[in-house]
Amino acid sequence: MTVRARYRLRDYKITADPVTPPSHQAVCVTGEDADCGADSDHQETEAAVERWIAEHTRDTGHDFYRRARWDFVNTEPGAWR
Ligand SMILES: [Zn+2]
Repeated sequence: MTVRARYRLRDYKITADPVTPPSHQAVCVTGEDADCGADSDHQETEAAVERWIAEHTRDTGHDFYRRARWDFVNTEPGAWR
């Protein structure tokens, strides 16, 4: 038996949210078998994340991080294609 499905594609307009500021985060990924996993949580500025990284390195000697800038967007459904 053959099952066929038909999908319709739709365009979406994605724009930066005008009121929610971006947030910044770092996670310590130092470790051989498993990452340390310490998390800065969401910070308002990149400088705050860098301060958290510096303090974590000072306290632990860990030296490898994943860092991200999160921004917020709104979507608006558009035309069907
Ligand atoms: Zn760590």
